[in-house]
Amino acid sequence: MRKRRRLVSGMQPTGMLHLGNLEGALRNWVKLQSEYEVFVFVADWHALTSLYDHPDEIAKYTREAAIDYVAAGMDPEKSVIFRQSDIKEHAELHLLLSMVTPVPWLERVPTYKEKRDELKLESASYGLLGYPVLQAADILIYKADAVPVGQDQLPHLELTREIARRFNHLYGPIFTEPEALLTEIPALLGLDGRKMSKSYDNTILIADPPDVIEAKVRTMYTDPLKIYKTDPGQPEACPVYGLHCVYNKEEAARVESECKRGALGCVQDKQHLAQAIIRALAPIHSRRRELEQHPEEVERILHAGAERARDAAREVMEQVRAGMRFAAEGHPGF
Ligand code: SF4
Repeated sequence: MRKRRRLVSGMQPTGMLHLGNLEGALRNWVKLQSEYEVFVFVADWHALTSLYDHPDEIAKYTREAAIDYVAAGMDPEKSVIFRQSDIKEHAELHLLLSMVTPVPWLERVPTYKEKRDELKLESASYGLLGYPVLQAADILIYKADAVPVGQDQLPHLELTREIARRFNHLYGPIFTEPEALLTEIPALLGLDGRKMSKSYDNTILIADPPDVIEAKVRTMYTDPLKIYKTDPGQPEACPVYGLHCVYNKEEAARVESECKRGALGCVQDKQHLAQAIIRALAPIHSRRRELEQHPEEVERILHAGAERARDAAREVMEQVRAGMRFAAEGHPGF
């Protein structure tokens, strides 16, 4: 019997993590680790669906993501922090689950077509189509009780639950159907006013040093009708104001009213915002610097996390193999 309910989540290292990742996922994980037994991984195998021809980048971003996890407050003593590819059992379970997952279930996943178009691949890879099966394996292998998801990820989790049901029906009640822990994800806007996303190249990175943050904020899109300081602006349509609401909450109301009255210039407002972001990231940056200076510590954390994750995964895989009539020590063959 578990003392705390188990929660599993991960992020793909297809680039450096940005403020959208910090506010949309990481901060939530940090909060949840006092309530749940949290397993978080860096999903380096998943990153291959888009960066299959850049393995060095995946390795680099994996290390950087692990640093961001810990620097943002994930506690390696409390939570299990690991690299997906260190736990080979995920791949074994992915293979076995792929045998019981009908292809139309995968083709109807809305993000599949979007991602295929975004990647501009002539024909999508088998791995991209099977991505939700690997995701199901990542979750089911730890018998997660809950998975934090945004509204848009609900179909993925529903698919995991369907795969678990089908598997349990065929081979016995092995998997837990994970619940969705619906997370209110703040719509963090990027430099150009669209959703902050690495595919739009409009991000502020968690690791960006202060001078880069200042330079990026200076280039931010604002209300295009506010040319002069005295022009009344529309803060609700301005991403600078959106970031004030997250990083400068105490002053957001003042910014809103001064902007509307034409009593605030965009240049000055952006300088204030940049300083607020720099202040908010200061504790993360200071932990980041320590970890960057001690890469062996990052490896130690990932290694220790992998040991704990592997123990949990092995236990479940023994049940899966037994359910599917594979003997523990090899089997008679075809
Ligand atoms: S004053 Fe600030 S909130 Fe208003 S338009 Fe300019 S940058 Fe945006």
